[in-house]
Amino acid sequence: MPELIPYDARDGYIWLDGELVPWREARLHVLSHGLHYASCVFEGERAYGGRVFKLDEHSQRLLDSARMLGFEIPYSLEEINAATCEVVRANGLSDCYVRPVAWRGSEQMGVSAHGTTIHLAIAAWEWGAYYRDLKLTRAIFRRPAPDTAPVHAKAAGLYMICTLSKHAAEAKGFEDALMLDYRGYVAETTGANIFLVLEGALHTPIPDCFLNGITRQTVIALARRRGIPVVERHIRPEELRQAQEVFVTGTAAEITPVRAIDDLRYQVGPITAALMDDFHALTRGQAEAA
Ligand code: PMP
Repeated sequence: MPELIPYDARDGYIWLDGELVPWREARLHVLSHGLHYASCVFEGERAYGGRVFKLDEHSQRLLDSARMLGFEIPYSLEEINAATCEVVRANGLSDCYVRPVAWRGSEQMGVSAHGTTIHLAIAAWEWGAYYRDLKLTRAIFRRPAPDTAPVHAKAAGLYMICTLSKHAAEAKGFEDALMLDYRGYVAETTGANIFLVLEGALHTPIPDCFLNGITRQTVIALARRRGIPVVERHIRPEELRQAQEVFVTGTAAEITPVRAIDDLRYQVGPITAALMDDFHALTRGQAEAA
């Protein structure tokens, strides 16, 4: 079901530029550089039992994404971490999604953005499973080359091709799109990294033109701990036909089995099931940190 209550019509608290404000008052002006020119970066995090999983890694990626877009968020890693925890607590949340977002303000309306104020907001809300029945179709756009966009930033602008690709996939009856990269190799979905099981080993694309997801890195560590070989390499789309299992990883998606890619069908196999168990145990604090 789509979200029924618009996100600006909910209650609770959002951390905005240094303080908690009532949810509905967390506003920005329409003449904000971040809105017009996508000078905006964000994070997606999940808390389990009130604790944000891999908080340091997410806050660090937020700071790094901003630097890749040429701006400095005026808060330290520790301050961002503390604000994140404050938001989860203030909203009385336990298992939830957390969305920090940083953008350039209203001092400039041209392309050049020198001297703009940098804003930071952090919101949190309950959000269940991201995917329901994950069937993928080939995306209408490819991931851009590293010399055409800041591909390693979690930058709002890079999601334009994701939303368009996802809409095109949904119009064909699929849940998401599988994006190839600029060379034609398998890259990722519009919001998660992808893994294939081939003859007992995990194969996943080298993240050289898209996000090296924090969940992706966690899953690689969990697989190696189980003695499952992990191969990071370029994967050609034709190889999808040979895969025994396919799954995606991401903060929102966690580990989600892929049921189909166009006319190819997949079952939830033993490696996917084992890694889902491990990930569940880890996020619920029953296992050592990976
Ligand atoms: N790729 C894209 C395009 C994403 O939006 C996400 C979600 N942040 C990921 C991969 C997975 O990253 P992570 O595991 O760090 O959430």
